[in-house]
Amino acid sequence: MASPPCIHVVLFPFMSKGHTIPIFDLARILLNRKIAITIFTTPANRPFFANSLSDTNINIIDIPFPENIQGIPAGVESTDKLPSMSLFVTFANTTKSMKPHFEKALQSLLPITFMVTDGFLVWTLESANKFGIPRLAYYGMSAFSSAMSHSAGSVLQTEVSDDEPFAVPNFPSIKLTRNDFDFPFRERESKGPLFEFTMEAIIATSKSYGLLVNSFYELESVYADYCNRISTSKSWCVGPFCAVHEPPKEKQETLEKPSYIKWLDEMLEQGKPVLYVAFGSQAELSPEQFKEIKIGLEKSEVNFLWVVRRSAISEPNDEFENRVKNRGLVMTEWVDQREILSHGSVQGFLSHCGWNSVIESICAKVPILAWPMMAEQHLNARMIVEVIKIGLRVETCDGSVRGFVKWEGLEKPIRKLMEGEKGKEAMKKVKEIGVAAINAVKEGGTSWQALNELIHELSGRG
Ligand code: UDP
Ligand code: UDP
Repeated sequence: MASPPCIHVVLFPFMSKGHTIPIFDLARILLNRKIAITIFTTPANRPFFANSLSDTNINIIDIPFPENIQGIPAGVESTDKLPSMSLFVTFANTTKSMKPHFEKALQSLLPITFMVTDGFLVWTLESANKFGIPRLAYYGMSAFSSAMSHSAGSVLQTEVSDDEPFAVPNFPSIKLTRNDFDFPFRERESKGPLFEFTMEAIIATSKSYGLLVNSFYELESVYADYCNRISTSKSWCVGPFCAVHEPPKEKQETLEKPSYIKWLDEMLEQGKPVLYVAFGSQAELSPEQFKEIKIGLEKSEVNFLWVVRRSAISEPNDEFENRVKNRGLVMTEWVDQREILSHGSVQGFLSHCGWNSVIESICAKVPILAWPMMAEQHLNARMIVEVIKIGLRVETCDGSVRGFVKWEGLEKPIRKLMEGEKGKEAMKKVKEIGVAAINAVKEGGTSWQALNELIHELSGRG
């Protein structure tokens, strides 16, 4: 079905890799439907946008990011470049002063059919309302995490201790702990700035036209339905966005393969299954934790590709890399995670459970060893292990979901995932779900249909 070219959509992702990359994919999905796109960012992020979208005719507009904000180094316009995630609220609140620039640009772009702006860019709702543009919020969260976060208010009132499992009303088969919830939801007394910010974002979402979810109905229908029952704004499951990503053929053939793909090719030729290890663009690892990962990987004796943010490396790696050189590769550059996950040699993913990583792993049919670290990743881990059963979990030394992980807590689960029965079961399940994910975005699939419905509704053609 071709939509008329007069539909114009504005996208404004939050300034972090995890919130931006899926919006690039969404842009491509909309472009495939002959929709004109304008995407907003800031000057320092512009090169990343321009590189990633260079093969498209998407209009990129950058608006100035506020300067001289206490704690935020000059030139830092992305949360993955912040010295610490404790600056998150300052950073997010700082974006509010971009509003006049955004509105000036919007005015020059009218008519705009609808806009998809990040849930953290709370203030964009007012801008949307000012020009009568329907706004869809996007957080990059699953319907399951959205549903559980919604329930947090009622379930967390009880006097449970942080690690005591409790049943969740409406979902009898699930048990959660207080520690599975992100900090603003489990703050007991002092409702700090992060709590206030979160509440503001939730209220703005409920007043928006809807919520765009990077997931598909078959994966979490119960939770998607629940979100729609409890919220005034409708949730639209139109993902997985990453399923759209197919680099142009001629580019694939002419470009030289990156070193890590060549290495994976060798592993595949030798029939050696590889564990991919990566914790996203935000997670902060302590030097002690870092050390345990090295020991765990070494003792597990599996083949692995470990992608580490340069800033997370606290000591030289040379000796370790030397010891594991026949079966392990450590990368400190940006990699194409989706290309890695879809490589035939990769049979497991030790992941921090950022939602993009989860959904990318599902699409690539790779089972997950869950090691949640922050944000809603603990809820994602519950979903992976206990709800959709596509993985196992690392073992913390004190049994708390937020506890320290010693090498033993990694070594055993790594072996189980890569060699054990549980790993085989997870592999079988992820293969089934992966097929459903791809089918959801194909013509006629549930996500394809939901997006059709949304576009029709908003372009007055419903
Ligand atoms: N990513 C990547 N290369 C890297 C690091 C990350 O392509 O070297 C991508 C990854 O594929 C995913 C996103 O960055 O799309 C990270 O999002 P996620 O939700 O997994 O984690 P976050 O970084 O937000 O914690
Ligand atoms: N990078 C890139 N594309 C991206 C993100 C990062 O090419 O989308 C490069 C970036 O320029 C740097 C490296 O990957 O050379 C690591 O990026 P980042 O600053 O996020 O991580 P850091 O090493 O600072 O922890």
